[in-house]
Order: sequence, then structure tokens, then C-alpha cells
Amino acid sequence: MADINRNYLDLQGSYLFSAIAKKVREYSETHDSRRIIRLGIGDVTLPLCHAVTEALHKAVDEMGNAATFRGYAPDLGYDFLRNAIAENDFKARGCDISADEIFVSDGAKSDSGNIQEIFGPDNIVAVCDPVYPVYVDSNIMAGRHGKYNDATGTFSRFVYLPCDAGNGFCPDLPKEKADIIYLCYPNNPTGAAITKAELKKWVDYANSTGAVIIYDAAYEAYITEEGIPHTIYEIEGARECAIELHSFSKNAGFTGLRLGYTVVPKDLKRGGTELRSLWARRHGTKYNGAPYIVQRAGEAVYSPEGKRQVAEQVAFYLNNAKYIRGNLEAAGFTVYGGVNSPYIWLKTPGNLSSWEFFDELLSKAQIVGTPGSGFGAHGEGYFRLTAFGKYEDAVEAVSRIKETAF
Ligand code: PLP
Repeated sequence: MADINRNYLDLQGSYLFSAIAKKVREYSETHDSRRIIRLGIGDVTLPLCHAVTEALHKAVDEMGNAATFRGYAPDLGYDFLRNAIAENDFKARGCDISADEIFVSDGAKSDSGNIQEIFGPDNIVAVCDPVYPVYVDSNIMAGRHGKYNDATGTFSRFVYLPCDAGNGFCPDLPKEKADIIYLCYPNNPTGAAITKAELKKWVDYANSTGAVIIYDAAYEAYITEEGIPHTIYEIEGARECAIELHSFSKNAGFTGLRLGYTVVPKDLKRGGTELRSLWARRHGTKYNGAPYIVQRAGEAVYSPEGKRQVAEQVAFYLNNAKYIRGNLEAAGFTVYGGVNSPYIWLKTPGNLSSWEFFDELLSKAQIVGTPGSGFGAHGEGYFRLTAFGKYEDAVEAVSRIKETAF
């Protein structure tokens, strides 16, 4: 009889957003759902920009013509896209990353879940708390988690790096041994950004201990302040210790189109082996490449019109974030994020738990957000709102929150 992967049985609860969807569904069955404003899931709402749809149409026509048809894409990505990425996301920022260190994929979720496969089973994994759940769950599936403690909601083999208002939501270096360290900045869910000086501490730490940093830069396009690194490769020494994940979802609205990439520099070696060769092997074995038409759409994001149009979309969401953050702050809420990020991280009013605030916000103001505790124990007492909706919804949501007694 086939045995199952028992690690899956250790995954905790249903996925956060399924739990939220269930509560909203139940509420909608007995109330007028048209009033509900959704500031929960981090999905974009603006349509794809013109430069992108134009590239898609052109690529579709090419696929329908015998002379220009393409079959399987190269599994590491087409050169036209890898070159555009290397040029714009790295060389233009003074970072030494070449096209053959870039691996094109269908998005940062798959890459952030799959990257752990190139590491051995006994590595100790360190994650921020609160955290994007994929880093944790994918390592549980691979058996790196140890025993679950019901009282603390933690696993014995993970190292949790508390992120709170005290440390500006940027964790202190671990006291325990940590081999694989997941960092995400600008951060989901807290909306915090990390300075170059802070990030340098992590790079130095990894280079002195042999740890590898998996740096998720999915929200890089939202950085507005000076001195905030757009990529970890702006930090000296990062080529020797860091893998970086990127997504086209939040900068260019590709959540439904699917495109991302991962950088594994040639200088990143452990035990005498280039990690890049392992990731190339993994990619080549299990992945047949992002669709040609989607890679052409990705290329268009780097054209002069594409750059201008996607920057306008990001500016639109950032303006929502600014409105929500500024007005809630003025109304007496304690608010973080929303400056270099589309996420606003709110301290729940009174002593409400994250889920209590979720229930109150839904029942009293018909607003859906995300309970901070769903991202980890240190998210308890916090709440995430996203700026990915319509401006009118942001205005209406803020006005309802201000009128509601919690
Ligand atoms: N990484 C983080 C931190 C995210 O918040 C998300 C999506 O919300 C992703 C990765 C996934 O991005 P993609 O749509 O490219 O899979």
C-alpha cells in the first residue's frame, strides 16, 4: 500500500484565506453582500496596462502563424526576458547579476515554495514572525519542522524571528543556529521596509555562518524612500549568500497571468557546489517554462511605455495606501506600513484579538481585512488592510471604520 507524506498532516489549519472566505460567505448568506468592501487578499484590481496587452496580442498572433510559432519554451526562460531583467532590475541599479543567473518561472509563490528542495532535510529554517505562510508550509511538507506546540503555535525545529513595533518589524539576528533564512522586504504582511544597513547585518551574518538567505522582493516596486534596497544584491557580499525571488504580480498586475523569476548567483556555493546548478537541474526536471506569450508580456513591462504605465499603477495603489494610513492615523489608530508597501498593518483597537477585530469589522462596517495572527503568533493584535482596491472603496472603508465603535 502506498504511504502518504505524513508531513502534510502536520500543516496547521486551513489556509488563512480559505478561513476568511468561509466567514465572509457565511456572513453574506444572511446580510446584503453588496455592501462588503474587500481589503483582505493581496490581489490587484487594475487591468493589465496597454503595453502588456499589446505584447500579448502580438505574441498570440505569432503563436497562430506557422512561421513564428513556438513550442516548449527554454525551461530557464527566453533570453529576451532574462536579458531585460538583468539590464533593468540589476545592472541599472549597479548590481552585478547576469542573465544566466536568472530563472524565469510562473511566479514567486511557486519559487518560494519550491526553493527549499535544493537544501538538505536537516537544515534549520528561520522565518520572520509574522510571515508569508508559504515559507513555513513548504518546509513542513519537506519535514524540516519538528513537533508542534499547541500553546505557542510553533514548531520545535523552526527558528522564529519576532517582528514587532519594537524592532520596526525587522528581526534581530538569531541567537540559535539557522541555516536557511527567509526574509521578505518590503514585507508581507507588516508593510515594513528594511534599510541597507539592517540588511547588511543579515548578509554579514549569513556569510560568517554559512547560512543562505532567501530574499523575497515581490513588493520591491512599492519602495518610495531613499536608502531602501530594491534588491539584496545592492548589499556587498550578497552574491555569496543570497537567493532572490521576484514576481510580476504586484508591480505589473500579473496575478492572473503568472510570471516571476529567481536569482541564484554563481558565487553562491555550499559544500563546494553551486546552488545555481541545483536550481537549474530542478527547474529543468520539473518545469517546462513560462508561456511564450506571458514572457513577451513580461518583456513589455521593461519597455519605456511599459515602465511608465506600470509605475502609474503602483502609484495608484500607493495613493490608496497613503489615504488609508494617513486617515486611520488621524483617527487615532496605530498604523504601520503603507509607505513602501501596499499593505497597512494596523494595531487592533482596545484589546481585541486579530480575529475579534475581523469579526467586528465585518459585522459592524462590512469590511474584510486579514487577521495578523493568521501570519504567526507575533501578528496577534494586528490586522492587515491592503491598498489594492478602488480609491472610492478606500475612502468609504476609512469613513466606515471612523464611524464604528470598536
Ligand atoms: N511572495 C510574497 C511575499 C507574496 O505576498 C506573494 C503574493 O501575495 C507572493 C510571493 C506570490 O507572488 P506570485 O503571484 O508571483 O506567485
